[in-house]
Amino acid sequence: MRQLLLSWNMWWCGPAISMEASNPETVGGMPPKLPKKPTRMPTCIKCGGKNIEGAESCSQCRWPFSRRAWVTSDKKIQRITLDTGCINVKKQNADLNTLERWAAENRIVLERSAAMLQELKGNARIEKAQSLPGHPRIFNLGNALGDGVLAGPDIPKDLQKILFPTARPLTTKQRADIEHLRLHIRTGGDVFVTLNPRDFIRRGRQAVFASFGVWVMAPKELVALLRDLNGWH
Ligand SMILES: [Zn+2]
Repeated sequence: MRQLLLSWNMWWCGPAISMEASNPETVGGMPPKLPKKPTRMPTCIKCGGKNIEGAESCSQCRWPFSRRAWVTSDKKIQRITLDTGCINVKKQNADLNTLERWAAENRIVLERSAAMLQELKGNARIEKAQSLPGHPRIFNLGNALGDGVLAGPDIPKDLQKILFPTARPLTTKQRADIEHLRLHIRTGGDVFVTLNPRDFIRRGRQAVFASFGVWVMAPKELVALLRDLNGWH
């Protein structure tokens, strides 16, 4: 196994996070970028705290960076952003059905990003998406007015380097993928749920995201985790 190392300027201290490619042959035939800088400490997406590489959870806010850390954490998965492909109009995805049932029981909240409505096609899908709550309004510490959530970091370039490191230029779909995840992080969501593992999960992406607290999962993974953590049926 060889390591694909990505380095990028994170929002305040520019860590380089290692990205393990489980199958190098699938890395689009492109040679991996060699690390130009030594690996630095990843910063937590929730609080900005610095952590040692490989930390299971944030040393400051305790937000989990590993699946195992969820088991002992007092943090809860509550706000879930649905990717565009997760608009389950025909109710044919059993795991999305389960998430929708838990949302109806007020155990979790399923949200959509503002970018979703622009990307969706088909009246039934748009109608269903409109029935989901949008992301909450955000505010920054400098202009804290009214309700909403404290803004998380705005890191589109970092996301692009993880999701589409070699794409030049980005396609419309790729730009939309980045925008959905950007808004999820910006609005402080807990888990981003997608049915597009190729772009969001595989080739080490899920582990890289989790290493600084961004949780990207398939519906099946999230249902299994919530069952494990909460004993829900
Ligand atoms: Zn933290």
